[in-house]
Amino acid sequence: MKRFETERAEMIEVLKQKGIWDERVLAAMSSVERHFFVDAPFVNRAYEDSALPIGHEQTISQPYTVAFMTQALELKGNEKVLEVGTGSGYQAVVLATMGCRVFTIERRLPLVARARKMFDHFNLHIASKGGDGSVGWSEFAPFDAIIVTAGAPNIPQPLKEQLADGGKLVIPVGDRDIQKLSVVRRLGSQFTQQEISGFKFVPLVGKNAWANEGK
Ligand code: SAM
Repeated sequence: MKRFETERAEMIEVLKQKGIWDERVLAAMSSVERHFFVDAPFVNRAYEDSALPIGHEQTISQPYTVAFMTQALELKGNEKVLEVGTGSGYQAVVLATMGCRVFTIERRLPLVARARKMFDHFNLHIASKGGDGSVGWSEFAPFDAIIVTAGAPNIPQPLKEQLADGGKLVIPVGDRDIQKLSVVRRLGSQFTQQEISGFKFVPLVGKNAWANEGK
């Protein structure tokens, strides 16, 4: 039996009770061992439904948030997905476990290095780079789905442009403290947008995002 199997199963029950229904998302999250992605003092809390610190003033997102955003992308498991905000690497590993081809960008270079070790540990081919993800990753565009895991003041235009026709972008948009989750769908040159209230993320800092306040 894998470590924390019971706790992981309990986390999945909590996600279901909170309204997560996508079996692909639930299956991936029940197999990915979240305790590998958190710092040592938090290992015993890895399956609580809460965000946890990962150093560098950043967090691994709450499991419900990961599940909700991933479900909102309506993935089948063969899509090319861009993640902005690699953080611990957990979200990228969940997407890759679902079968997606994952590209991920993180502005904090020590976190990139740490996440890469996780990708190797799980034996997954995930393309990652250090840098400002608010400009997207044009060399590999278009993407079937884009997930931004930090809160932005607006939707960065390059991310909309790098969406494939029929593709979906999920991004928290609001002020620095509280955001709404925007779900944007591209249909040809048209974009439709839906907003869901009540999410809280660390800020997206970059050219098309919040200014760097020394953090
Ligand atoms: N997806 C992550 C996980 O699974 O652990 C959680 C990420 S954390 C909530 C948000 C991350 O976005 C932080 O690591 C932060 O450094 C990063 N970030 C903020 N602005 C960014 C930018 N412009 N480009 C890339 N990463 C950025």
